[in-house]
Amino acid sequence: MQPPLVLFDLDNTLVDRRGTLAGWAAGFTAQYGLEDEDQANVLDMVAERAYPSTFEAIRTQYRLPVSTAELWHTYCTDIAALVSCQAGVLNGLEELRAAGWRVGVATNGAADIQRAKLRATGISERVDGVFVSEEADARKPQTRHFALAAARCGTVLGDSGWMVGDNPVNDIGGGRSAGLRTIWIGNGRSWPPDDPGPDHVVPHARAAIDLLLLHSVDYTRTAA
Ligand SMILES: [Mg+2]
Repeated sequence: MQPPLVLFDLDNTLVDRRGTLAGWAAGFTAQYGLEDEDQANVLDMVAERAYPSTFEAIRTQYRLPVSTAELWHTYCTDIAALVSCQAGVLNGLEELRAAGWRVGVATNGAADIQRAKLRATGISERVDGVFVSEEADARKPQTRHFALAAARCGTVLGDSGWMVGDNPVNDIGGGRSAGLRTIWIGNGRSWPPDDPGPDHVVPHARAAIDLLLLHSVDYTRTAA
């Protein structure tokens, strides 16, 4: 029997991306002498899509005296320094693996920044595998994204797989289409009423981990 698999989204699931970006945007606009309204605009642009092309647009709009490559590199370094993962969540990833789970990260985004965050927070060394969409041009909610993430964990998508994330379409809809059971991280929101619901709703990642640890008892029984 193959080990149960759980894939976690990264941003606003394992780490607080919104809070990290707000702090970064404040520092960035202070560094370049930009106004408050510019800070809000820069934050919106990066929150929407953080790739080198985003920084090309920011550099042009604000006539910044540095190269796009330098802006992108500094962004990756700064964000890695600011981001953190709660100790209870880091410990939880280890508890899941000790209970026999294969644990992976399935995230959309640019490989540079997502991998920098995973290393800086200590998540990298506590999971079996990571897949970042840019690495094979396969974004959630495509099933191929989840299949590649499972492969990075040395396994395949199957009946005993789970997806945990905060995005109703990418994580929950995509996870369900890929044949996974789903846990939605509400982050204080309520589920969009028109969408078919996830299997479980929890307030934060640690609660999702506790739920999975309860399920691992079932898997152990099934295997026995
Ligand atoms: Mg997310």
